Amino acid sequence: MNEDCLFCKIVNGGIPADIVYEDDLVVSFRDISPQAPVHLLIVPRRHISVLNELNEEDKMLIGHLALTAQKLAVEQGIDESGYRIIMNCNAEGGQTVYHIHMHLLGGKQLAHLC
Ligand code: 5GP
Ligand code: ZN
Repeated sequence: MNEDCLFCKIVNGGIPADIVYEDDLVVSFRDISPQAPVHLLIVPRRHISVLNELNEEDKMLIGHLALTAQKLAVEQGIDESGYRIIMNCNAEGGQTVYHIHMHLLGGKQLAHLC
């Protein structure tokens, strides 16, 4: 746990959030400023600041984030209509909270990005 980290505080119950899923590796909760009807964040329990810090030992964790997003997309009813997962890295990538997380967005037609 990083004492100064917002998402560590949410993961550890120090700050409230609308939690939709948790297991031994990850916690998922609704984004406080949703950009789509469904906007969930999927966060590892372990503090990792940026994607740049990932290494070979984290392969399973990243796979688990993606499979959790897939499962939550089904639960949220957006698996057939479609959804997007995003992970931002550092300033120009749009990262604002420095504890890695996956965004799951859906429930409307999303703007084409690339
Ligand atoms: P980033 O820009 O780092 O990829 O995403 C950070 C996300 O965290 C943003 O979409 C922002 O709305 C969300 N966020 C920031 N503070 C809070 C908070 O206190 N609670 C929740 N649930 N989401 C937050
Ligand atoms: Zn953290």
